[in-house]
This record gives sequence, C-alpha cells and structure tokens, in this order.
Amino acid sequence: MSSSHPDFFSIFGSMKKLLLILLCIIFLFSSLGKLNAQQYCGTAKLMRLAGPSNYYKQLFKSYQQSTTKARNSFTIPVVVHVVYNSSVENIPDSIIHQQIDILNNDFNRWNADTIDTPSSFSSVAGSMDITFCLARQTPNNQVTTGILRVATTDTSFYSPLTYAVPDPVKHDSSGGSDAWDPLTYLNIWICNLTGVLGYSAPPGNFLPNDEGIVCDFQWVGLPVNYPYVKGRIMTHEVGHYFGLKHIWGDDAGACTGTDWINDTPNQANYSTACPTYPLTDSCSSTSPGVMFMNYMDYTTDACKNLFTKDQCSAMENCITLYRSGFLTAQGCYYPTAITNQVEPSPITITVKQGQIILNSTEDIKGAVQIFNSLGKLMSTANHGGKNIVLPTIGWAKGIYFISSHVSLSAKPHIKKVIVW
Ligand SMILES: [Zn+2]
Repeated sequence: MSSSHPDFFSIFGSMKKLLLILLCIIFLFSSLGKLNAQQYCGTAKLMRLAGPSNYYKQLFKSYQQSTTKARNSFTIPVVVHVVYNSSVENIPDSIIHQQIDILNNDFNRWNADTIDTPSSFSSVAGSMDITFCLARQTPNNQVTTGILRVATTDTSFYSPLTYAVPDPVKHDSSGGSDAWDPLTYLNIWICNLTGVLGYSAPPGNFLPNDEGIVCDFQWVGLPVNYPYVKGRIMTHEVGHYFGLKHIWGDDAGACTGTDWINDTPNQANYSTACPTYPLTDSCSSTSPGVMFMNYMDYTTDACKNLFTKDQCSAMENCITLYRSGFLTAQGCYYPTAITNQVEPSPITITVKQGQIILNSTEDIKGAVQIFNSLGKLMSTANHGGKNIVLPTIGWAKGIYFISSHVSLSAKPHIKKVIVW
C-alpha cells in the first residue's frame, strides 16, 4: 500500500499518539489547575494576620545586630505528621527521607546545583553547619521513626483567607495531629492544603503548639509534577521557620521594603518560573540584578540554589535567640547510646581502596549516613537496595562511622571505618 493511503494500523498508530498527547495535556492542566489555585507560600499572609505589624521587623533587626551566636553547628530533630484523608495523601516513608536529605543538602550547601549559582552571587553564597534528622526518640524517650500517620475525616486543610487559631491540622481535636514539644522538635505537617503550597510559623507570633511547617502532600521529596520537583517548598518554609523573610521584602513591588539581609539585592517583587540571568528590575536595575535563584524567592525548584551568607547568619542567630531549645535537643539521638554496631546484622560493610561497600541480605531502608569522629553528619546517600557502594575519593583521611538500616523502627547498623 502506498504511503498516500495509510492502512488501518498506521491510522490506529496515529490515533494512539493523538490520544497520548491528549492525555498528557489533560494531566498537565489538571496538575496546573490545582497549582494555579494555590499561592506559593502563605507565611507572609499569616504574619500579617497573626502578629503585630512591626514585630517581624524588630525580630529581624535583632538577628542582624546579634553577635551572640551560641555555636556554629546545629542539630534539628524533625517529626513529620502525615495527616491524610485519601491513600495518595498518605505519602510513603521513602519520600519523607528524600525530603530530609534535601534539607540537609540545601542548608549545608551540599546541593549538586551549587554550580548553577552565577559567579556574581557565588561569593555571597552561604552554608550552615546543620543536621536535620528524623527524630529517633519521642518526647517520652521511646524509639521512633520520626513519622506519625494520622487519618482524618477532613478532605483538606487551611487557606490563608480562613486562617484559624489554633490551626486545625496541628491538633488532634480538630482532625489534625498534636505537635511534639515545639521547643525541641521541628514539627512538619503534610496534608492536602487548599490555598497555598506551604506555610510556616516564623518564631514569636504563634501559639507554641502551632509552631512548625505545613506543606501540601504533592510537593514533598522529589515529586514528578512540574514545577516543584526538588523538594524546595520545604527548604523555603524552613527558611521562614528560622526567621527569614521573602527576598523581595513583601512590599508588593516597592523598593522601600527589605528582607533585613545585607547581601541580598533589593528586589521589587517575587520572581516566577525561571528567568534568564541576569534579571534586573526597578529596584536593582543593573546587572547582576535580582537574586531570583535564592530559596526565599518564588521561582521553580530547579531554578533555586542558594541561601546567602547573611541569610545563614540570620538563621543561626535566630536559632540561638528564639529557638534555643534546639541547642540541647536530644531527639536526633537514640534513647540509649549506641557505641558500636548492632549484632547480628544483615548488613556487611567492607572497605576496599577508594570504596566502602555495603552488602545486605535485606533491602537497606532510608538514608545511609556518614558521620565523622566528632559525630558530625558528613553526607547522606539514599540509594536503597541490597548493595551500596560509597566512593571515598575526596574524603579527608580519618575515622568515619557508617550508619544504615534495614528497619527504620530499629537501631541502625553502625560501622567504624578508617580512610587513609
Ligand atoms: Zn514564603
């Protein structure tokens, strides 16, 4: 049959392609439909509703002027409350582990896309020395995975326009889940949100048991739905939780507002999508323009890659002054000390030149964590499976502890290795 007379199968093939394209378009619009109906972040709106008008400003001045930073490294126990109505909202542990890794990577500036920070801004790119962990002990000293699952009859929670005090998702009595001690745990609630993708409670203006972060279940970890595919809604909200303001100063296009951070350019309004660098505006009219790749802007996840040095200092001062419970929090440690590897263990760890090799008879769950001899988390690897190879190229000579699990509710397998 000539090509000018397509047979049944080629017509059928074309129809299939057409149908596939149609389905993709429907999927894209249904995803974007919810996205368009949601604002990126509800924190600034909450601040206007919840606090005295000048409180935020005063608080920020105190971060900037403070020289009383208690220490340089911080450990933040996290408890995640998955408050779900449908099974799709009951996101798996693996996604929550991804999210914790993302927080560690972004706040320590271990993120692979640091190379995308323009050279004009890389000199002010900052990093904290901070470890987020899923809680390993409850407030009552019991072993925990740090993940709570609470079924609710509420099909969705919250809108900035209908803000309620106390916040329903944060309380058992209103279909949510009660906070763990907000002074020593970072409480994160995952639920079906209407109105916003996430929101946070900057320190000081909220009821103690309403402190923490709420995030829509769709944007946790590494979701497949464009545009927030790198878990950075949570990075942005943790920035607020540690006192950072939006980079444009929430002044709706004026140049008079400020984020009270010295090394971020003045910016008129929020940025969207992923602009081409350099992007100038009425407040920063010459190159390099505004810092749209900052985590405290509204650009897409793949567009973002830095906090600045002054933002990191402000967060450190904020923890010291207003979230000082974290300086002595014990939630990242097991209720009883672990001095060596748990025996018997299904995981065998061997060391070869340039490689640490984990072989297990059962699947390794969650992140493999590498600590140095001071107990500082050096990096995480989240591969899963029964066989994991960790290249040690680039590691400084010294003693390291490799922590891995086959059950997240049990103590980890810990092995001491020497790299030389
Ligand atoms: Zn925000």
